[in-house]
Amino acid sequence: MIVAATAFIILYCFLFPEKAVAALITYISTLVFATLILAFISNIYLKKKSSMDQKQIIGIAENMNIEMVIWADDFSFVHINKKLRELLGLPDTAADHKASVWRAFGVNGQDEKILKEIADSRSYESSFKGADTSMVTIAWSTSLVKKKKKCTLYVSTGFNLTELKKMRVNLASANDFFNSSMELAEIGVLMSVDRRNYRASPELMKMLGLKSSSITAAQFRSLVHPNDRIIFDNALKAMDSKEVRSVQMRIKSTDTLYRWYTYRFKSIEGTDNTLPLFGGAVLDITDEHEKDVRIEQLSYMDDVTQAANRNKLLEEGNFIYDSSKMLHYNFWIIVLDIDRFHIVNDTCGYSHGNEVLRNFAHILYKYVTPGGLVARLSGDNFALVLRDYGDDELPVRTVNSVQEEFAKLAVDELASINLSCSAGYSMLPRDGDSFKEILEHAEFALKSTSGTQGCICAYEPNMHDSIIGDTAMEKALGLAIANDELRLFYQPKIDLATGKIMGVEALIRWIKPDGTIIPPDSFVRIAEKCNLIGKISDYVLNEGCRQNKLWQKMGYPNIVMSINFASSDFYQPDLKEKVFDALARVGLDAEWLEVELTESLALRDVNFAVSQMNKLRELGVKLAMDDFGTGYSSLSHLQKLPITLLKLDQSFIRNIEHDNIAYEIVSAVIRIAKSKKIETIAEGIENHVQESILRMAGCDYAQGYLYGKPMPPQELEKFFEKKSRS
Ligand code: C2E
Ligand code: MG
Ligand code: MG
Repeated sequence: MIVAATAFIILYCFLFPEKAVAALITYISTLVFATLILAFISNIYLKKKSSMDQKQIIGIAENMNIEMVIWADDFSFVHINKKLRELLGLPDTAADHKASVWRAFGVNGQDEKILKEIADSRSYESSFKGADTSMVTIAWSTSLVKKKKKCTLYVSTGFNLTELKKMRVNLASANDFFNSSMELAEIGVLMSVDRRNYRASPELMKMLGLKSSSITAAQFRSLVHPNDRIIFDNALKAMDSKEVRSVQMRIKSTDTLYRWYTYRFKSIEGTDNTLPLFGGAVLDITDEHEKDVRIEQLSYMDDVTQAANRNKLLEEGNFIYDSSKMLHYNFWIIVLDIDRFHIVNDTCGYSHGNEVLRNFAHILYKYVTPGGLVARLSGDNFALVLRDYGDDELPVRTVNSVQEEFAKLAVDELASINLSCSAGYSMLPRDGDSFKEILEHAEFALKSTSGTQGCICAYEPNMHDSIIGDTAMEKALGLAIANDELRLFYQPKIDLATGKIMGVEALIRWIKPDGTIIPPDSFVRIAEKCNLIGKISDYVLNEGCRQNKLWQKMGYPNIVMSINFASSDFYQPDLKEKVFDALARVGLDAEWLEVELTESLALRDVNFAVSQMNKLRELGVKLAMDDFGTGYSSLSHLQKLPITLLKLDQSFIRNIEHDNIAYEIVSAVIRIAKSKKIETIAEGIENHVQESILRMAGCDYAQGYLYGKPMPPQELEKFFEKKSRS
């Protein structure tokens, strides 16, 4: 009995540490007290060799604060002490206690067997209704105090277990409550006292399909996913942490599938009466984990190509940068741009565009080396991070291979598009103080290819000088426009059938106050970038119309004035109104104005371009396709665009007398254009052989240094006069 009560009190202290001190003090003091009393009484008897009579024993028992019964086994004598009488509700005057003692021993009436049991076992528990009708439980400890001739005298000392019983009931219901809560919250508990043998809660057994609640660390480890076992081992090592720690790992579950769990654990220090405890709560987080993976995918992965996105690249890149500095590795960062990707989107649709992006990413994957990475930075920009093994040619060779494979994709719908890519690259850690900076330098190198198809450019620190140059140029150009330093030069266009001048192309020049003439190639690109082009184009449109009208008024033959438009000019919604105003302002008929557009410009947004072109055609303005043959477009595009003139690019003409292929292309283009009622002009004619070839090929008009370079208006007037005399 005492052993059970002691075990019970230890368990109680462990589970309710906050009540442990009070419970222990009560328990220990009661125990000590009872033991002392028994020892005291027994000793007195032994020492006095039973000289003490029953009266003396009763006197001692009466003053004791514990329940006591002094009884003879033949029931010739029974005494219940005051404490027990109070409990039983017996008056002090009651002379005979024989009937009441059976109640105290928890039996209804006389029972010799029970008496023998009490006497023999020296430990006996009884329950009975107390004076206040509540149930009382007493643990009896019985000692022999005197052996008489006829009978034996015993003293039974009670230990009142009533309160502890209540606690046990509370504890059992608390345990039930605990288990139900854990079940509802789907939390498993895994605890150990020695870190080798664990006890699993019913909920954890359910979660993991365990057959027994006891499981060894090794058995539990075998359920952990092989890739997460290191995490589990580390958790075991950290198990004596006083802080709550948590790890996430996959554990084989009831359905034999691995599910994700979080294990929150800590150690609970042992006390004098309790052993230390290790362990904690196991929570199924599979759903949350899947959501996290998805969120990670969304924030770190490009949806179209499934490659890493810029965020991921920067994060991984920082790690690569740090480790490359530490381990003295080098990496190449190559940034690639798909040339004229918008054309693919515009002409073949977004789904084809996405397909091209996916294929491009797959090509890049073939070249990525261990420790490297492929990422889509934005739109048609990708990054390829490659480990360097001392081969300076690696970036160029890799890009060349990518270009080769990429070009092969141009089949079916993409057949008319020349798929190519350009690249800029830098070296890590050499080319910057952080991964971000080195990436930006590779992007900078790419930009410096200025859109030249298939170009590959290495980053060089002096590249920044040209940007400083650009900024200075922007400022100077702004001032030049304000100071009216821009002028139009005119280059004649000749009718190959008659040799007469049929038009001029207005070409912009910046004439500095010191007379230096800056050609358009040096500033038109910058003007486009910093939005100064609008002002330049307004000037070109109005000045071109004014000059043409002036020449008409001066009596020169009517000619077509061609002007060049940049993309931003052409896509203005009020383009038609602007052109109409410019014509109306000087009273020039629309048929004497022609707008030159490049293929890339027209195909950037083909539907909008066609509507803009139609609006100009409605006014009566002519439309020429400039630099034809340099872009990606095929003759099939001609059908879509309402152009009136096709300008064959000078690259075809430059060597036409020696280049049969150029000749074949030019004559085919002229034939097709004619069939579509589109006139043709060849630009860049520098000699008579070229002129005759083009005339024979059926070209309508010609422009080039052979007839005249771009010249100021006064010089062109002389040209008119010379022509009229010849
Ligand atoms: P573009 O429209 O193709 O103009 C033809 C260019 O070829 C002109 O260069 C012209 O001088 C040059 N050229 C003409 N015949 C020959 C020849 O026989 N041999 C050689 N080697 N070159 C010849 P320019 O004037 O330097 O203009 C270059 C480009 O600048 C133009 O190409 C056009 O794209 C752009 N540009 C010129 N003026 C304007 C303008 O007012 N606005 C816009 N947006 N761009 C302009
Ligand atoms: Mg032009
Ligand atoms: Mg041209």
